[in-house]
Amino acid sequence: MDGKGATSGRGILFILSAPSGAGKTTLAKLAISKIPGLKQSVSYTTRARREGEVDGKSYNFVDKAAFQKMIGQNRFIEWAQVHGEYYGTALDAIEKAKAEKSDILLVIDVQGAAKLREKKVDGVFIFVLPPSLAVLHERLGIRGTEDVREREKRMETARNEIAASKDYDFLVINDTLDAAEQEMEYIIRAERCRLKRRSLDFPDYTPHS
Ligand code: ADP
Ligand code: 5GP
Repeated sequence: MDGKGATSGRGILFILSAPSGAGKTTLAKLAISKIPGLKQSVSYTTRARREGEVDGKSYNFVDKAAFQKMIGQNRFIEWAQVHGEYYGTALDAIEKAKAEKSDILLVIDVQGAAKLREKKVDGVFIFVLPPSLAVLHERLGIRGTEDVREREKRMETARNEIAASKDYDFLVINDTLDAAEQEMEYIIRAERCRLKRRSLDFPDYTPHS
């Protein structure tokens, strides 16, 4: 115990998903910088590094053979193919964060989140929605990391992803960044106060079942 009560991590797994361009990377970065005890998991991917991305920080960039080897070794808690590339969360990163009592934020797609639910992983599932599809389209254009064809593909995928939001615990609408960031923070801080998690503060207290 560090005496900070609900302001410190508890080994909670937060799962953040959203259609491409909705703002999950932006919101995740803000949450990590503002909320003590929260770390972001660094995923593995086979996709090419974008300008400004740092290997081992943004992602662990690996080739397909290395990724498939990791699948064979059961080293992923979840993995999925997104936009033709492989993405996955390594099991050991999660275990390490849990051992340190850090809360961990996974920024993963809806397929990966569904796999975690299937495995009955104790996680808090948060979905970020843009205020409208038109705004989503506009943000993808402003970000400019994909060409027009790729952007249209992402808009198509977005409709299916939004349909999957019904299975999540929380919905954050990313209209103004300030408001969305605050909602993220409220969710994380409230979750740390949940009865079953607060029992960590009182080792001799058993929550009601
Ligand atoms: P994702 O990770 O979901 O693909 P990003 O975080 O990369 O989305 O955001 C997509 C683009 O939209 C980026 O250029 C980002 O700066 C911008 N953006 C994110 N949130 C907002 C917001 N609330 N208002 C305006 N622009 C935003
Ligand atoms: P991008 O290539 O734009 O960084 O990410 C594309 C999609 O892959 C996003 O929806 C992102 O959340 C998702 N993604 C990133 N890492 C992982 C992961 O480890 N597992 C899964 N299932 N999806 C991931």
